[in-house]
Amino acid sequence: MGSPNQTTLPIIAVRDGIVFPKTENVLIFGRLKSITTINEALKKDKRIVLVMQRSSSVEDPKKEDLYDIGVIATIEKTVVGEKGEINALVKGVEKVRITEYTKETPYFEGTVEKVEEILDDDNELQAMVKHISLQVKKAINLGKAVDFVFLMNILNVGTPQDFSYHIAMVLDIKEKEKQLLLEENNLKMRLINEVDYINKEVKILEIEQNISAKTQRKFEKGMKETFLKEKMKTIEEELGGGEDKDLKEYRDKIIASKMPKQVEEKALKELKRLSQMSQFNPEASYVKTYLDWLVDLPWSTTSTSNVDIKQAEKILNEDHFGLKKIKERILEYLAVIELRRQKAEVAQKDGNAEKKKKEYQPTIICFVGPPGVGKTSLGRSIARALDRKFVKMSLGGIRDEAEIRGHRRTYVGALPGRIIQGIKQAGTKNPLFMLDEIDKIGRDYRGDASAALLEALDPEQNHAFSDHYLEVPFDLSDVFFITTANMLDTIPEALLDRLEIINFPGYTEDEKFHIVKDYLVKKQIDAHSLSTAEVQVHDAAMKTIIRRYTREAGVRELERQVAGVFRKIAREIVEKKITKKAVTTTDVSKYLGPYKYSNQIIEGKNTIGISTGLAWTQAGGDILFIEVAIMPGKGVLTLTGHLGDVMKESCQAALSYIRSRWEKFGLKKDFFHNFDIHVHVPEGAVPKDGPSAGLAIATAMLSALTKTPFRRDVAMTGEITLRGRALEIGGVKEKVIAAHRAGIKTIILPKDNKKDLEDIPDYILKGLKFVYVENLDDVLPVALTHLPRTVKSGS
Ligand code: ADP
Repeated sequence: MGSPNQTTLPIIAVRDGIVFPKTENVLIFGRLKSITTINEALKKDKRIVLVMQRSSSVEDPKKEDLYDIGVIATIEKTVVGEKGEINALVKGVEKVRITEYTKETPYFEGTVEKVEEILDDDNELQAMVKHISLQVKKAINLGKAVDFVFLMNILNVGTPQDFSYHIAMVLDIKEKEKQLLLEENNLKMRLINEVDYINKEVKILEIEQNISAKTQRKFEKGMKETFLKEKMKTIEEELGGGEDKDLKEYRDKIIASKMPKQVEEKALKELKRLSQMSQFNPEASYVKTYLDWLVDLPWSTTSTSNVDIKQAEKILNEDHFGLKKIKERILEYLAVIELRRQKAEVAQKDGNAEKKKKEYQPTIICFVGPPGVGKTSLGRSIARALDRKFVKMSLGGIRDEAEIRGHRRTYVGALPGRIIQGIKQAGTKNPLFMLDEIDKIGRDYRGDASAALLEALDPEQNHAFSDHYLEVPFDLSDVFFITTANMLDTIPEALLDRLEIINFPGYTEDEKFHIVKDYLVKKQIDAHSLSTAEVQVHDAAMKTIIRRYTREAGVRELERQVAGVFRKIAREIVEKKITKKAVTTTDVSKYLGPYKYSNQIIEGKNTIGISTGLAWTQAGGDILFIEVAIMPGKGVLTLTGHLGDVMKESCQAALSYIRSRWEKFGLKKDFFHNFDIHVHVPEGAVPKDGPSAGLAIATAMLSALTKTPFRRDVAMTGEITLRGRALEIGGVKEKVIAAHRAGIKTIILPKDNKKDLEDIPDYILKGLKFVYVENLDDVLPVALTHLPRTVKSGS
């Protein structure tokens, strides 16, 4: 016992449960040597030195097996256990180093000296203390097991040093790591290590909690499912007494739908498959959707199919003004259908089923014409006349064969094609099925949609139309197909071959007037819940709407404008501003705003440098103006108005022709070098193309160059060659109707187009004068108010 710091005390080797200074712990001493030591200490001042053995597996450690640094502790309380072991509450006092062992048997005794620590207190140290406290609380919230009293102790301990010892006690780390914490003489370093340890512990606790939450959820879900399945089984047993209610319903529906034998077999097979499936098999819902389709299709539901021609004629006339020829064609067509039906009936009575099939096949008509000319509504009328259901499917933009014929069932989200969808929608197997826009159907890598369509339409094949989704054939031979198109050019050849074309050329102004007066106004009065007692429309007002607010071959926009007027009137009546109204021309402008179109032909004067051409678009024919301005310059030709390449080339050709014939047209030899020429075709935003404006362009140029006015009531169409020849063009019929509508009196056409006038209605031809030309030279005397002097002398 040399220095005052030194003292000799009994020493106990501990395997685990290190006790730090200022902390308490209950240790269990079972080894004889330890029990002896305790008893020895209890006889004296109850102080012992607790020191860890380096390896906990050593049963009877020697002094070399022990660490050098330990803790002096006082034995506060002891309880002897059943097997003689001592449970002792010990309280750590201070950290000591064992300098010398004075005794090894029967117990260890040695000299120890107090170890001083470096206790620099600063902000960092305080921050660490705070951080650790928070983390410990967090760890406790996450489930770390810490005695409540201990927790209070931690939070209330005085010095950072004591705090560090308490924390070291509760950290979830190895005994060896605890020993290292004990041996650390720099308080700050100990806290740093403790920060690391507690951070890590919190993180692990968080992960653990997450995992256990997930496992818990999984477990609960599993439990719930098993429970529900059991419950369902019981319910099913209670209810169904064998077959599931659902399955029974399907079976009944299959029988009720009177499907053909082959289809019924297929349906029952699928039903069997369904019955063997678990309710939770996703496949089951696919099978159900399939069965739904099969049972919902009208395998044997038909509307009556005899035709009363007189009645049909009455209905067609009731619904539509004019269209005389078309209606006649349709009635003839219906007569043929009726005849076939009667013969088929006879054949069936004779038991000749094959003959029946052949006799009872309607061909396919195709209504061709611009939008709004009544194709759809005539289709509806025919359905009404025949007392059949009406369905309409648009085929515009379809490229994929599967759109027509369905996707195979292996395809996710598969459905039948549009034909079968339409049949289901109709609910009968003999509806009037209108296939809209067959000119917009196409073909690409996904198959040829038009080929599939042909199969559906072709009377030779369509009694067993196969849809990929259905897998069983459906008999389409009773369906009355009507197709529609805006133009014939883009309909695939094979399809076109089978169609019986009925042309809807568009309406004249006079026809439109009758349509609006006798049909559209009445229709819109009903649609707006008004009555003829409340609203009347003056004839002049209707004409104004036609002339000033629409420019179309059909009457769709016209109908929209009329609806626009009635909407406003309906509002005024509801707001009690008026009780009834007789719509005048002034009212039209009030309701519909400023005029949308001015009638350029009727109002315009003969003008220099503007010619009138005729154009043809999908929306029907139209007139178009070609403006040419000449200005001083260097021979530049400018083209504007959204012209396509072909039209631009027409301008070049026209100019070249004029330049090559400068003398004949009375122009100066090098006139072109001193001028710039600008050709513009309003309306600038609408794309225009095609060669058919060639003559009109050349005429406009000549009018401008020779300062000779163009006649307002003349319009022309025709391609021009470099030699000034007039070449044949297409769309004559639509163009002529448009010219008539616009109030043109004289139409100039290439000679070769004469034949195209044949199927234009007489009432249109009546008011028009046609001039057939071979050359631009033939055009000038008709189109210009007078011939420039030089041309006269030259020709
Ligand atoms: P499309 O199918 O040719 O595009 P719609 O059949 O939709 O044209 O016709 C547009 C509107 O014009 C419909 O309300 C239709 O009833 C009406 N309509 C067209 N032509 C006539 C006509 N000749 N008589 C009466 N109404 C007509």
